[in-house]
Amino acid sequence: MNEPLIERKKKTKMKEKLGGIRLTSQRKAILETVQGMCTHPTADEVYQKIRGSLPKVSLATVYRNLENLSEAGFIRKVEHAGTAKRFDGNLAPHQHIRCIRCGTIEDVHESPEMTEMVAKQIQTDFTIVGHLIEIQGICPNCQKSMEA
Ligand SMILES: [Zn+2]
Ligand SMILES: [Zn+2]
Repeated sequence: MNEPLIERKKKTKMKEKLGGIRLTSQRKAILETVQGMCTHPTADEVYQKIRGSLPKVSLATVYRNLENLSEAGFIRKVEHAGTAKRFDGNLAPHQHIRCIRCGTIEDVHESPEMTEMVAKQIQTDFTIVGHLIEIQGICPNCQKSMEA
């Protein structure tokens, strides 16, 4: 509690306390790994990547920390029925397109017009606070393997 004010300010700037969890060095390494991958990795993919720099970390630890980080709002969870949970380090509003053959997920950016249209077209008594659209398709790689 006796931290110099400057130190504390620096930490707030880095959003270390976002969502009320502490960014331990391990958690930070996991967060940075997810942020550095634009493939929406599964826990296992994050684990494979981080093992080089954190040889002692276990898959269970990576998994638990990914859950904590997403609950605290540092990363997004991308869930689809019947597929492994994936994690997204990109917090900017965006939608996803998913390949129905290999499960590859890419970002799709939605225009403000589309956001407005979606909100207007939906008939509900709910107050709409947001939406997540999953667009399904076949990725260029799978298209190639289908042609071959
Ligand atoms: Zn594919
Ligand atoms: Zn994404």
